[in-house]
Amino acid sequence: MKYSNTLEFALEMDQKDPLRGMKKQFLNPKTPEGKDCIYFCGNSLGLQPSSARSWVERIMNDWETRAVEGHFKGDEPWVPYHERLAPAMSRIVGAREEEVVLMNSLTVNLHLMMVTFYRPITGRSKILIEKNAFPSDQYAVKSQIEFHGFNVEENLLELEPRSGETLLRTEDILQRIEKEGEEIALIMMGGLNYYTGQVYDMKKITEAGHSRGCTVGFDLAHAVGNAPLNLHDWGVDFAVWCTYKYLNSGPGGIAGAFVHERHHKDQNLPRFAGWWGHDKENRFLMDEHFVPIPTAEGWQLSCGPILLEASFRASLEMFDEVGMESLRRKSQLLTGYLEFLIGKIETEKIEIITPSDPAQRGCQLSVRVIGSDKSLFHALHQKGIITDWREPDVIRVAPTPMYNSFEEVFRFVAILKNCL
Ligand SMILES: *Cc1c(COP(=O)(O)O)cnc(C)c1O
Repeated sequence: MKYSNTLEFALEMDQKDPLRGMKKQFLNPKTPEGKDCIYFCGNSLGLQPSSARSWVERIMNDWETRAVEGHFKGDEPWVPYHERLAPAMSRIVGAREEEVVLMNSLTVNLHLMMVTFYRPITGRSKILIEKNAFPSDQYAVKSQIEFHGFNVEENLLELEPRSGETLLRTEDILQRIEKEGEEIALIMMGGLNYYTGQVYDMKKITEAGHSRGCTVGFDLAHAVGNAPLNLHDWGVDFAVWCTYKYLNSGPGGIAGAFVHERHHKDQNLPRFAGWWGHDKENRFLMDEHFVPIPTAEGWQLSCGPILLEASFRASLEMFDEVGMESLRRKSQLLTGYLEFLIGKIETEKIEIITPSDPAQRGCQLSVRVIGSDKSLFHALHQKGIITDWREPDVIRVAPTPMYNSFEEVFRFVAILKNCL
């Protein structure tokens, strides 16, 4: 793509954008003067689709008029409500419908998956993760290691970039697995690192892990709805994600889990069980013997949080309508444009640490502010730009293909230049 550093070019790109109509379907925060903010924070909390409220209201109405009968009656009864989310969700992560379930929140799902898939034994007890993974993931894996009576120091292997580098090289990840794989029980990494914006080669990591007898799972919090995913074909054992970031389900939204179908009927896998994971036909017979549903749904514990499921419907339908392929196509152009424009700023104060190879990133660019004290971030905020800051020195800028425009990217960089 040949980009140009002018507003006319940005407007022309918006004109040609097949997804330009989506922006109008989201509610955008305003500045104190009443102007639209430039919202580049979909990596943290996606915007509210204007139709999200009516999905939630339908549940409130059914609750009002039907009360307990809402579980089985009405247009969309609550007992099977979560099943309505699985088809579209599975297309976003590249899975079969039966491999995906919406339940709980992300860290809870990560723990539930590790109950099943982290089975340390003497000699094969380690977890491999990227160093500086999202804190919740670090706490989760460390506490699992301790829970099983192993010590964290010896059993947590962390992948670190080479000295002087910021990103992990795929060859180094694969080599580590090749060398130490025999002692690794579980490889559990982010699919897309929240800090650097780097997408890891999940296919190759899964293959390498399996060839050494390791179980392989991914936290897709930043990858889902952002990067191409093909969980089924890659053969990933399990994955978990939240939906309030790129998938716009709202604060504290319902989370997702993927369990590869080859594990669905395995009676030897332990799990924490609850009545919502029990065989649907006989759930209400209240039998004392647990019979798991032979799909990812078998990992559910509780009846679903219907209001959270409802607030996800609007965005999920938009993703399904647009499709990940066209989102990804726009995303590469949009983020490519951001990268191009930042490159035109003559300054030594900032550098992009996210990979420049589009295949190794999603929509986010992480911009390191050299010698920074967060003042740049505040200055941008003053001008109506919402990004986010990650200590010690990075501003994460995420133009999402669903609701951001080339014009916003252009205006953002003009303001950034000014603030510098
Ligand atoms: C956002 C995020 C979380 C947040 O976890 P919650 O359980 O939803 O609070 C965890 N891990 C990663 C990698 C994230 O990006």
